[in-house]
Amino acid sequence: MKDLLVMKFGGTSMGSADRIEVAGKLAREALAQRPVAVVVSAMSKVTDLLLDTLRRAEGGDNAAVEANLKTLAERHEAACGKLLDGAALDQAVGEVETLVAEFRRIANGVQMLGERPPRAVDEAVAVGERLSAMMLTAYLSRHGVRAKAINAREVIVTDAVFGNATPLMDKTRERAQRLLRPLIEDGMLPVVTGFNGATADGRPTTLGRGGSDFSASILAAALDSSELWIWTDVDGIMTADPRIVPGAAVLAEVTYREAAELAYNGAKVLHPRTLAPLVERKIPVWSKNSFAPERPGTRIVPEVKAPPGPRAVTSMAGVALVSLEPNSAEVSGTRIMGRALEALSATSAEVLAMTSSSYQQSFCFLVRKDELERAREAVEAALSLEINHEYIKPVEVNENVGLLAVVGEGMRGKAGMAGEIFTAISREKVNVIAIAQGSSELTIAIVVAREGLDKAVRAVHQQCRMGETAGYTGIK
Ligand code: ADP
Ligand code: ASP
Ligand code: MG
Repeated sequence: MKDLLVMKFGGTSMGSADRIEVAGKLAREALAQRPVAVVVSAMSKVTDLLLDTLRRAEGGDNAAVEANLKTLAERHEAACGKLLDGAALDQAVGEVETLVAEFRRIANGVQMLGERPPRAVDEAVAVGERLSAMMLTAYLSRHGVRAKAINAREVIVTDAVFGNATPLMDKTRERAQRLLRPLIEDGMLPVVTGFNGATADGRPTTLGRGGSDFSASILAAALDSSELWIWTDVDGIMTADPRIVPGAAVLAEVTYREAAELAYNGAKVLHPRTLAPLVERKIPVWSKNSFAPERPGTRIVPEVKAPPGPRAVTSMAGVALVSLEPNSAEVSGTRIMGRALEALSATSAEVLAMTSSSYQQSFCFLVRKDELERAREAVEAALSLEINHEYIKPVEVNENVGLLAVVGEGMRGKAGMAGEIFTAISREKVNVIAIAQGSSELTIAIVVAREGLDKAVRAVHQQCRMGETAGYTGIK
């Protein structure tokens, strides 16, 4: 199949009837030129609402569950009411009712159990994406496009890590070629749910929060597409989060590695794992603004002629630094580090950054706050003997930290770069707590005091003149 385009519409781009209309038009225009497959997120905030409902159900708060279900149904019915009429509207409202009832059934089960089994959560939250796929499909059909809503559960095959599953690419490819390709070759437009998948034996999974970007790249690879366009609510990948740095500029081009480093270090504009499936086939990605589709956006490519120096700064709040320190120099820091990391790997808590000191044999690592308890318990259990005998000091946790990362292919081998970054941060009197630089030299990650995080991001952005070199200034 020649020139296939996979398009993904994020939560804001699907967030209302008006936005769905725009998404539908963009898909239709593209379909007039070339074969297209679409991937959709749930309407903005809907996944949060669904997760909140399941938490309320677990806590037995029936009134809150009912109120949330009402909000869920009303928001989708209102959008259908604006997009459709007549029999198509009746049918869509019926489908909203069916999907909400399906969610309610799981929420009731959670309430009865007083527990949220991860598998049930994954099955339930996918309802958000199923609702938006249904609505976009209905809208497109009304406008003469032969569109078909597809539940990615039938296509994306994953491992059984509920809530953060990894695709099994060979099996997914086989399904995508068997189920989607014939539709596309027949001139139809599949509208596939983002975010979800299922194990080979059919148990529903999800790919992690923000995972619809990842769904789209998985399908782009599995279908050998020639491009992936990710429609979002900003002009592309920017030199910083425009919510933190008003003067952030859009980057015309970034490499897969730059985009991945930015995403892993907190740039929400892309799910961290998005680029991985595309690297081998070198499929280019565009990050584009569905609010201003005429703007070029950012092209993400295997290589670019990067200007020297850093290209973007990103940050992550909601992290915690865990420190381990032996009480005496006789204890091998390396062995402690090895045991701690082994314990962490068994919990699947992700280490975001890590540094060590050879003199004190101490080391510290950064994790997300929502993985902190798991991480801490695992490390304490693995080292309980050493802690009880006071060979190691009690595990210390600092939750008042944030991660700042400066990213750019051109940083490699550029002398004085780190100095400039630290000068900018210290000028703002923000405390630097730890520093980590990957061996790729693409990224410098700096742990700073939480209250100074945004200030430090702005200072680094200004010091490195990021807003001036990148191109035009993005407009939200
Ligand atoms: P979608 O719902 O389309 O997936 P997201 O909310 O997940 O959109 O991601 C887009 C948001 O990412 C933007 O609104 C912006 O605030 C944020 N963001 C963070 N860092 C960056 C960056 N470096 N460039 C662009 N946007 C960024
Ligand atoms: N709806 C999911 C979420 O909010 C996936 C996505 O939007 O990418 O996490
Ligand atoms: Mg997103």
